[in-house]
Amino acid sequence: MALRSMDTLNVAGRRVLLRLDLNVPLKDGRVLDDTRVREAAPTVRTLAERGAVVVACSHLGRAKGRPDPALSLAPVAPILADRAGRPVRFVPDVIGEVAAQAVAEAKPGEVILLENLRFEAGEEKNDPAMCDALAALADVYVNDAFGTAHRAHASTAGVASRFPERAAGPLMVREITALSRVRDHPVRPFVAVVGGAKISGKLETLTSLARRADTVVLVGGMANTFLLAQGVAVGASLVEADLVNAAREILASAATRGVDVVLPSDVVVAPSADAPGRITGLSDIRAEEMILDIGPATRTRIGDTVSGARTVFWNGPAGVFEKPGFAAGTRAIAEALAASDAFTVVGGGETVAAVQQAGAAAKLSHVSTGGGASLEFLAGETLPGVAVLEEGAA
Ligand code: ADP
Ligand code: MG
Repeated sequence: MALRSMDTLNVAGRRVLLRLDLNVPLKDGRVLDDTRVREAAPTVRTLAERGAVVVACSHLGRAKGRPDPALSLAPVAPILADRAGRPVRFVPDVIGEVAAQAVAEAKPGEVILLENLRFEAGEEKNDPAMCDALAALADVYVNDAFGTAHRAHASTAGVASRFPERAAGPLMVREITALSRVRDHPVRPFVAVVGGAKISGKLETLTSLARRADTVVLVGGMANTFLLAQGVAVGASLVEADLVNAAREILASAATRGVDVVLPSDVVVAPSADAPGRITGLSDIRAEEMILDIGPATRTRIGDTVSGARTVFWNGPAGVFEKPGFAAGTRAIAEALAASDAFTVVGGGETVAAVQQAGAAAKLSHVSTGGGASLEFLAGETLPGVAVLEEGAA
């Protein structure tokens, strides 16, 4: 299903409610990483240059439905202004009189940034009154916040259906285009690499990938549960004992479909992430040792698998990459993807950080910023914030 793009909207002289992802890390009112602001800025600039009154909004952090000064979007406004090359008027209000007044005063080409949407109790509840109030602020709607598109919140779902004219912003279009190419029509061989701490939260995605991919490579802490399911003594490793059966089912389903599953054949173990690691096979992991990274033979095997692929999706680090002694596996995967000519897509908070740390991001086809949203999309789930922007959606 094609997304409506904002290029098709007539925005000149009209008010555009623009849902952005400005959910940046803050410390003492300072923005620690402005990546999301930098990425959002061109959308703001484009709409302003086309003569819109831009009413930008976003959530930030886990505000609990009431104002929390530590989570104000105020510090983001000057950065957005700088990056978009236009003044941005911050309004310390979401759906009240102050916001309505500011929008009424704004002229075409001007940009307003509303306060943190989650200061309102109605936002996460997709509350109809909140949707009505937000909708009253604008004439058309654009959503460029892929990272929250899997949530049916007021600003992502309910408000959108109140606008006959609504569309996806360029970041949203880019995400959906790249992820659709992986999910719906991957050029084969298609290799999926999945890691990270745990299986829970990724079960549907794993099940889906084990159906769609030619090869599924399992690494990181979540591979431990699969190894356990195969009878490997994994010592003190992180495992999810209650998911051993789920792991067996995924392995069985992959086997019936002829999908190759690659598990670690050697690992780096240590009694703690602060102790030096020891490379070992799977047969002599000591009771007090934890698997904290994949070993060199596994790295080579994954490198070979990736170099033969024409589509690669990767989510989840191969080890505790935050510690230099257990980062080699994750770095090797990042380098293998960077060196590949395949269509390469990487998603997930920690995975994207690891890819940036390895200097590989620019060599990938697409780096997805929506962690949970990209996994749900690949699992085949309907994202409420996306469905409402599709051509023909009610
Ligand atoms: P993402 O944010 O990219 O989706 P996850 O949140 O699923 O990734 O997992 C990232 C975390 O997994 C990292 O903090 C990393 O330390 C941890 N991890 C990876 N391998 C292991 C392991 N073998 N044991 C424990 N934790 C691990
Ligand atoms: Mg994470």
